[in-house]
Amino acid sequence: MYDIIIVGAGTAGLTAAIYGVRAGRRVLVLEEKVYGGQIMSASEVENYPGIRNISGYEFAEGLYRQAADLGAELRFEKVCRIQEGADFKTVYTAKSKYECRTVILATGARNRKLGVEREEELTGSGVSYCATCDGAFYRGRDVAVVGGGNTALEDALFLSAYCRTVYLIHRRKQFRGEEKLLAAARAKKNIVWIIESRVTALKGEARLEAVVTEENGTGKRRELPAEALFIAIGQEPDNRAFSGLVTLDEHGYIAASEDTLTSSEGIFAAGDCRTKTVRQLTTAAADGAAAALAACSFLSGTEV
Ligand code: NAP
Repeated sequence: MYDIIIVGAGTAGLTAAIYGVRAGRRVLVLEEKVYGGQIMSASEVENYPGIRNISGYEFAEGLYRQAADLGAELRFEKVCRIQEGADFKTVYTAKSKYECRTVILATGARNRKLGVEREEELTGSGVSYCATCDGAFYRGRDVAVVGGGNTALEDALFLSAYCRTVYLIHRRKQFRGEEKLLAAARAKKNIVWIIESRVTALKGEARLEAVVTEENGTGKRRELPAEALFIAIGQEPDNRAFSGLVTLDEHGYIAASEDTLTSSEGIFAAGDCRTKTVRQLTTAAADGAAAALAACSFLSGTEV
């Protein structure tokens, strides 16, 4: 019997694990893929207070080590279902089942798909959602990035260091990303700005050879000779497995506020998977702490 089972080993989940074990609780973290979550694919992190500069990989590695060394258990199993009982909850994974008294859902969010034809077919053959993972394959080549947020700007900057040309495609004139990143990208001579345009087709036989864009209003078509397209258009949640357990908002995020309390007693939601306006590394860590402390007070309350 675990005191706390945490679903997801991203920043929110691992922070919750650190707080949980430090409060003397038996904690299990269940993760479907790899620990670290979205930050693993960030080339650099410069806005986490107290750390001037660190790679996303190093950050995730440090977080995992800290949680594991303090005594949190981590298993790589996909959670399929959670069942509530009178005194405890049962978490079913693809391999096994575990019992616990509280659950923290920290499932994060996944990359949003562009929805253009052949996107899935060409994923891994030119289409990618992670510039830091796949960018190095395109050294000296022409590539494209689509999106207008911080991720797209960071990806374009990262790729501009070693790709010949980086086409930055965005559907509007204004960018959502930070001014500092925008200015740095504007200073790069090999970033070509394709704004107020949408990706309408992906060309190539076995691999991507060109990206077709269409300008809003004018309908002007361009065929960009890009061998890779890095899609950086934000994230969306994947909380379907928990839709019968906790209330989701209209966008599929778990309805929970700063206190991380969900519609179900003893089930908490932390990080990008819950309803919130700011989704940052710092807010994920803050949520992890809040959820673990909320779970601990729930546990003490029931123990009395
Ligand atoms: P984001 O801020 O949500 O931006 C997504 C971008 O993709 C927007 O520009 C949006 O266009 C565009 N977009 C969305 N759907 C699209 C579609 N179907 N077709 C074409 N374009 C589409 O996502 P993000 O850049 O991944 O950032 C997510 C969060 O992480 C943000 O809070 C961001 O600040 C944070 N982040 C921070 C850092 C950092 O601080 N170093 C780095 C990366 C990410 P519109 O603008 O027209 O809506």
